[in-house]
Amino acid sequence: MIEKAKTALKKYFGYDNFRPMQEDIVQSVYDLNDTLVLMPTGGGKSICYQIPAVTMDGIAVVVSPLISLMKDQVESLLANGIKAAFLNSSLSSVERQQVEDDIFKNNIDLIYVSPEKIVSPDFLTLLKRVQIALFAVDEAHCISAWGHDFRPEYTQLKFIKRHFPATPIIALTATADKATRKDISAQLGMYQPKIFVASFDRPNLSLDVKPGQKKLEQILQFIKKRPNQPGIIYCLSRKNTENVADKLQMKGLNAKAYHAGLPAAQRSKVQEDFINDNVEIVCATVAFGMGIDKSNVRWVIHYNLPKNIESFYQEIGRAGRDGTNAATLLFYSYADIMTLRDILSNNENANVELKLAKLERMQQYAESLSCRRKILLNYFSEPFEKACGNCDVCKNPPQYFDGTTIAQKALSAVYRLKQQVGTSMLIDVLRGSGRKEIFERGYQNIKTYGAGRDASIRDWQFFMMQLINLGFLEVAYEDRNVLRLTPLSQKVLFEKKKVELVQPQVAETRTQKAKAQAKAKPKRERVRDELFEILRVLRRELAQQRGVPPYVIFSDATLEEMAAKRPTIDSDLMEISGVGERKLQLYGNFFMDKIIEYIKTKTAEGEKIQGSTYILTYELYKQGLSIQEIANKRELNPVTIYSHIAYLFEKGEPIDLFKYFSEEEYERIEEAIEAMKPPFKMKDIYEFLHEEIEYHKIRLAFSYHSKKTENVE
Ligand code: ADP
Ligand code: ZN
Repeated sequence: MIEKAKTALKKYFGYDNFRPMQEDIVQSVYDLNDTLVLMPTGGGKSICYQIPAVTMDGIAVVVSPLISLMKDQVESLLANGIKAAFLNSSLSSVERQQVEDDIFKNNIDLIYVSPEKIVSPDFLTLLKRVQIALFAVDEAHCISAWGHDFRPEYTQLKFIKRHFPATPIIALTATADKATRKDISAQLGMYQPKIFVASFDRPNLSLDVKPGQKKLEQILQFIKKRPNQPGIIYCLSRKNTENVADKLQMKGLNAKAYHAGLPAAQRSKVQEDFINDNVEIVCATVAFGMGIDKSNVRWVIHYNLPKNIESFYQEIGRAGRDGTNAATLLFYSYADIMTLRDILSNNENANVELKLAKLERMQQYAESLSCRRKILLNYFSEPFEKACGNCDVCKNPPQYFDGTTIAQKALSAVYRLKQQVGTSMLIDVLRGSGRKEIFERGYQNIKTYGAGRDASIRDWQFFMMQLINLGFLEVAYEDRNVLRLTPLSQKVLFEKKKVELVQPQVAETRTQKAKAQAKAKPKRERVRDELFEILRVLRRELAQQRGVPPYVIFSDATLEEMAAKRPTIDSDLMEISGVGERKLQLYGNFFMDKIIEYIKTKTAEGEKIQGSTYILTYELYKQGLSIQEIANKRELNPVTIYSHIAYLFEKGEPIDLFKYFSEEEYERIEEAIEAMKPPFKMKDIYEFLHEEIEYHKIRLAFSYHSKKTENVE
């Protein structure tokens, strides 16, 4: 059965192998187990129920919370030649009838439905009359009140197991914590569920935190390094989304704002345009992204600090779902912490303590001086020992120095200011600022006024953050966020305790090691070059004509591999990950034509480029030149040209080999081949035929013969 699954994986999705856990999950469904799958966004959850759906008897019923998600999934499936449909409130009654008929006639492999739909009596009646292979519950954490995305309508899904006790149910989510996990299986009434927890690591996402100053400048630099790459900028306030979008537009960038306050039509237009690669950058509140399956988002920037690590991870998880490298950048400023603390504390009805604790973990992430990925994964209870090599801390490891004097200056100032000021006033005093309040309060008279002039404000902020994190100072959140001394600070002030601090980063100097790591080759060869751009444009055009999002045609990863390998014939194209039979049939020639055109142009310009040799021979062949003529023109040996011709023929190109040998000659050669015991060499046949038939003819006839027998099998 699992062999059947692999064949389907290649046939429909164009993938050679399951990812590690997918195979076990598929097997678990085949074994009719209730199955719970926890996998990060982009981990490949869908395949886990889609493959059973197309290989098992009966139809798969998929519960999905969002209309836009369903539509996306169904479009992708149809594009892969899989019979899928959805039922939700967006359909007209005629459309609905059509889909229900298809279900009834078992003319469908996957049906996506909303949670409301599945519990409706009419639908139940329909389901009872057809064979059901499995139920899949997507975004299953929505069923748990513990999770961060609770949806009351999900709680009715208990009903599934009650009515179909023998049908396996597979629940999938990207939310990992243990309480939610237990809750899901209990709420769904799963029977001894098999639980699969995939690694939450997303090694293709780079992690970067930068101080939240001159953000716009930093963003512009960031985007400049990533031209034509779709990305999202998350902002805390609606106003900010508009501001940032305006400013980017003024710089000539294709950016749009998105937030819940905009008219629905405008919002869905922005979303559609983004999905279809017509808008490159969306500046959005967290309202954006939930229902978006776009796999080629290349970067995510957080303009402000998110409230907790769950949200942060989910939001950055929208980048790089295709598995190709993607960048994430978080701007961190202390002011954001203050704002968020205010917002969270004012929230009357909910669990303030828990929320503040979660914010603190987020802050720890932003302020970390060790591998950031470690912090993320440990947060999700996934032990992660080694340094990741793909976060800013790993790439630019902290340099420690003796910061005792710095600590003494800061702590002494806090002491002399009677523990009555916050961080920014403290820094101003240390740097001897002429701020009015300083003089009003007489702070210019304390001994440490101006004692820290030699360091910049930014450096001081960095030192203060470390002093707080190391426990030398405390922030009194309950009292205007003023700084307070701690038992540890006494040791520094009065017992000469040494303090190790990290140097502020001077520039983007990377260590050799990080460079080497960054260069480590991905398994499949991929490039983003001129050809990639050409293919990308083609993809967009095709997508527009067909009214589907570009990534439904091919993912970025697939295009990158095409650009690297430059396939020009069907069989080579099929080798590329993401190209299945259906897509080969629908789009193969469009893409191969572009690749051929590219290779020809480059060759005409005198460039010697990879992948060109067969094409050039083939071009001349199509012009009707003889082998000798082609050989002369290309300054190659005729034997080489014959081998090209044989190759092209074997790969299925329409080449008439009988131009090169007669029917009679072929029959003789075929007899020889059939008479010989394998393994044999061309030379053996040559000798068997008393050296009467030329070598190249044997070579070509051999191709013809193997193609012929291959087709018979
Ligand atoms: P999730 O639902 O977990 O967020 P998806 O099912 O959308 O993830 O898969 C993420 C991406 O990984 C998609 O582009 C998908 O086609 C690709 N993918 C899934 N399984 C495989 C596989 N076995 N080999 C290669 N790519 C895969
Ligand atoms: Zn790291």
